[in-house]
Amino acid sequence: MSKHSNLVGGSTADRILQCPGSWQANMALPPSADISSPYAAEGTFAHVVMEWLMQARRDDGQTDLHRLADAHIGETFHDRKLTREHIDTMILPALLQLEEIEQEYGGGFEVAAIEARVAFPGIPGAFGTIDLILVSGSCVLHVDWKFGQGVPVRAVYKDEYGERVNAQLLYYIAGAMNSLPKIYKGRKALALAIIQPRAPSDQPATAISKKEVKWFIEDLQAAVVEALQREPRLTRGDACRWCPAKISCPKWTAPMLDLAAMKVQPRTEVVERKVTPYGEYLANAKQLVDGLAMFTKEVNDQLHAYLEDGGTVPGWKLKLKAKQRQSINEEIVNKELEQLCFDWDEI
Ligand code: SF4
Repeated sequence: MSKHSNLVGGSTADRILQCPGSWQANMALPPSADISSPYAAEGTFAHVVMEWLMQARRDDGQTDLHRLADAHIGETFHDRKLTREHIDTMILPALLQLEEIEQEYGGGFEVAAIEARVAFPGIPGAFGTIDLILVSGSCVLHVDWKFGQGVPVRAVYKDEYGERVNAQLLYYIAGAMNSLPKIYKGRKALALAIIQPRAPSDQPATAISKKEVKWFIEDLQAAVVEALQREPRLTRGDACRWCPAKISCPKWTAPMLDLAAMKVQPRTEVVERKVTPYGEYLANAKQLVDGLAMFTKEVNDQLHAYLEDGGTVPGWKLKLKAKQRQSINEEIVNKELEQLCFDWDEI
């Protein structure tokens, strides 16, 4: 991870809210080179295509964006050529999902802002870029494109404390209301949508109130004040998942010591329905090894990043990236394998 000079951004807002100490913990990590993953580059490419399509919708009144995208297959956007596969797996599903959500919120939307840079109120240096804002007579719809295939991102999360609206989107909405006030004139409802065509969530959109945005602004401002104090609170939770500071965070390293010190409880009793010492031992051990799995991943990622930056780790070195094998034509491959006496099952 590279060092961010700003305290908080869209992608770190939730982490600072949940764990104010995470900012100092991450700042204490040594800097490393920015290495873009192939997935991130593909995401940037897809964002550029969507930006171009939304500009065509806004500036040229284009309504058939699918056909427009089709007509530009083979053209280069960002770092690669647009292909049929890109359209079928990312662009068209994103357009269809957007259409559905627009209908859900009353329809009649026009493009109000594309890739707009906005400033979060009351926190110096807190900026962000919102992908798309659409406006109708009654609603302002905020859209975030996500083209990853990993974990589906929801508009609302539920936990034991109730419902939590996606903090990244709330951050952008607060910034947009601060930087682009004209869009919000009149008594318009607010909604947000996360369009993730390759990993759709079961709740991609939600309506929110202005009061929710106000509370979010106050909470984030308070969390940032806390983050700047001496020894701010560290809270282990969901936000740890993507936090690079896990490698040295006491909330993660201390349980490793617990694991080392854990006394093995042999199974002596017969299986019972009530909680037994052996059952308790298994519950504790499971919690610790689950934590260890996440910690292991972080250590591996950090080790890899350190080697890629040019560092030396005794006993480890980078392997040359293996080129992915790809079957160009399935029929030819099948035929060749048949001739080599492979059974159909094996092929
Ligand atoms: S790993 Fe978790 S507890 Fe530790 S700093 Fe990061 S978010 Fe906070």
